[in-house]
Amino acid sequence: MSCVIHWFRDDLRVSDNPALRAAAAEARARGVPLLPVCAWDPAQALATRWVPQRMGPHRQAWLAGSLQALDAELQALGSRLLVLRGAPAAMLPALLSATQAVALHAESLPAPQEADDARRVERAAKRLGARCHWHWQSTMLALEDLPFSVNQLPALFTAFRQQVEQAGVRPRAPLPAPEALPPVPTLDALWDPAAALAQAQGDGHADLGEPRPHLGHTPLNPPAAAVLRPDARSSFPFHLPAFAAGERGAQAHLAQYTKRLLPHSYKATRNGLSGTDFSSKFSPWLATGALSAAQAIAAIHDFEAEHGASDGSHWLWFELLWREHFRLLHLQHGAALFRARGLSQQPTPPHDEDAFLSWCEGRTGEALVDAGMRELAATGWLSNRLRQLVASHLIHDLACDWRAGAAWFESRLIDFDVHSNQGNWLYIAGRGTDPRGGRRFNPDKQTRDHDPQGAHRRLWGTA
Ligand SMILES: Cc1cc2nc3c(=O)[nH]c(=O)nc-3n(C[C@H](O)[C@H](O)[C@H](O)COP(=O)(O)OP(=O)(O)OC[C@H]3O[C@@H](n4cnc5c(N)ncnc54)[C@H](O)[C@@H]3O)c2cc1C
Repeated sequence: MSCVIHWFRDDLRVSDNPALRAAAAEARARGVPLLPVCAWDPAQALATRWVPQRMGPHRQAWLAGSLQALDAELQALGSRLLVLRGAPAAMLPALLSATQAVALHAESLPAPQEADDARRVERAAKRLGARCHWHWQSTMLALEDLPFSVNQLPALFTAFRQQVEQAGVRPRAPLPAPEALPPVPTLDALWDPAAALAQAQGDGHADLGEPRPHLGHTPLNPPAAAVLRPDARSSFPFHLPAFAAGERGAQAHLAQYTKRLLPHSYKATRNGLSGTDFSSKFSPWLATGALSAAQAIAAIHDFEAEHGASDGSHWLWFELLWREHFRLLHLQHGAALFRARGLSQQPTPPHDEDAFLSWCEGRTGEALVDAGMRELAATGWLSNRLRQLVASHLIHDLACDWRAGAAWFESRLIDFDVHSNQGNWLYIAGRGTDPRGGRRFNPDKQTRDHDPQGAHRRLWGTA
């Protein structure tokens, strides 16, 4: 048996997915089935150096919903999703071998862990005589359209934005969903767990665990309802149909966001703390890839064509450029961004475990910080303004290691994106590319400016 594999990573969508299209085209040209897969690594639910669970319950639930939605999209196109339980760098080689796949297509991701996974899959594919094709598709702008090479990426965001705008770089146009996909191979026939395990161990992946292919359906045991009680105070209430995971949810959200003319008021409201409308709320769908950045900006440009451009609509482009800049910084600097000193020459930061725990649990005694931390723990969401404040408080007031804070955000945020998270934490810690030596946000001033009546603090019981 033979097939072409499409490995879904942070691109859980069928529309605007050049890698999926290329995989389907190759399968058709070779007359072989197309096997769409993704890997759910149970190790994600385990403790790390900093936190009790690398992926907490809200993010697990959001991801599970996103995978279910993707499987439904694939079924509508005549395909299915195979969810592999295990580390991608172990499971993909085992699957390539078990299916005698001729090729694998996947999106290219610049963060070091993701890039390393890809290298390991590529090495295994080479040994097996299969070809890997990596597609850069997670930014709005194509790499070849940038007016500089990645090695010459402007270190400062403002210089980056100005050069992109002066060169008139346009985002790439999003692709429609394919009308149909080639059929999947017969899965019972292709998968022999014992053989797959032996194969993976032979490849040096002894930590594989139990490889269990799982067709369709949720790959994880959804977190207990008690842990995930819907919280009516949430600013991203994803238990409601209007915030459904997956690309239909994303498209419906974009449509209502522009129909209600919200891009016009974005610049004025973006520093809000609570509510569903003060910012675009694109990020949870962008994080799983249910929405591509190219689709998001295309919707804003369509909006501008119909209703006119405004400061607000332009500011969304500006913010999406921050996302681009952080991804490109990962392409340029890779693992250096994950060192304690980041790109700086500063010593390893101090750390106070008790202070860190009080921060995580929202009991530092700083009322607005505590409100934000309780909100994050209860809902998996936090406004940008409070992300900045709580990060600054942990680093600059509680003298804790910024990597612990980044790890807590990774565990809790439903929109966790390694590139944006790492980039923002480095920026506030003063260990990234910004020359200003870090950003401290004064809690008193932030409280006066953004929660003068105490509404947010009362909402989260810290007033
Ligand atoms: C310490 C810290 C950690 C963060 N971690 C993440 C993360 O893990 N995932 C994540 O998506 N964002 C992260 N952000 C950035 C930002 O807070 C969120 O993107 C934003 O709050 C998401 O809400 P929204 O979609 O309504 O954003 P909007 O304000 O409506 O902005 C539109 C889009 O622009 C992009 N954007 C906006 N601000 C930023 C920014 N500062 N950096 C990068 N992209 C931006 C996002 O894609 C966002 O969806 C972090 C910010 C801080 C200060």
